[in-house]
Amino acid sequence: MSTTTHQGTALITGASTGIGAVYADRLARRGYDLILVARDAAKLAEHAARITAATGRRVDTIAADLTNKADLRAVEARLREDRSITALVNNAGFGATKPLADSDIDDLEKMIDLNVTALTRLTSAVVPTLVAHGSGTIINISSIVAVAPELLNGTYAGTKSYVLAFTQSLHHELSPKGIRVQAVLPGATGTPFWERAGIGSADNLPAEIVMPAEEMVDASLAGFDLGELVTIPSLPDAADWERADSARKALGPNLSRRSAATRYQQAATA
Ligand code: NAP
Repeated sequence: MSTTTHQGTALITGASTGIGAVYADRLARRGYDLILVARDAAKLAEHAARITAATGRRVDTIAADLTNKADLRAVEARLREDRSITALVNNAGFGATKPLADSDIDDLEKMIDLNVTALTRLTSAVVPTLVAHGSGTIINISSIVAVAPELLNGTYAGTKSYVLAFTQSLHHELSPKGIRVQAVLPGATGTPFWERAGIGSADNLPAEIVMPAEEMVDASLAGFDLGELVTIPSLPDAADWERADSARKALGPNLSRRSAATRYQQAATA
């Protein structure tokens, strides 16, 4: 779906390169004014000028390191105070490929700060405004490692599992208030992510598993238009995800009971 009706303003984190930069382009074409957030002010300004020239949309930028408390608070304040904001795309994030034993724990803590803490605080800042509007959109960029934690680095997988669980919970909380949320689980996507994650380039991965960022974002927005809560752009059959999610939900009635399962009672008395 494409429209030029004015949709309000979308704030997109990590919009200087890769997936976030494509979201910026696509949401502007859908009629959003934009607030683009990342650390690289020059890249943001270039991108903003390109988008305004192509679409005529108003594009503001905020240069912020979302792992820095003062910078993060400034973006939160904008989300709380700017009543034109109707959408948040929590996209800024980074990954890692080394095992825990070979990783720098300070780098991993920074990853949690960005992928989890910043995403949570920004969401918390925007929700009251969206609830007041009775509408709005939150798109959270997770990853397929949320459901395949044996791939890549375990902390990265943990952060992206958090994003998935948080989004599922937000859907439960916010859909009755008219707010759409979506978790996007990209597979390998051709962006600078892979250089930053320490494996050189996406070109070092098998070509058949790497999707161009444009195709990934267009598929995710198509998933959004289809009303999906969870979008896995590569997955050929959406029913595979629905079956997995139904199996999870089927555990529900047995997850909290007065007594331990029989097999544990037997083990305790053996
Ligand atoms: P990318 O090209 O490296 O983009 C990451 C973006 O986040 C950049 O705009 C970067 O801008 C920004 N960023 C990084 N650290 C930041 C910080 N401390 N504060 C503010 N902004 C920061 O990677 P990408 O592939 O587009 O990644 C976007 C999201 O997709 C991430 O959450 C990633 O985990 C997820 N994802 C990627 C893949 C993949 O294969 N590429 C697969 C699954 C999920 P500055 O450097 O200017 O700050």
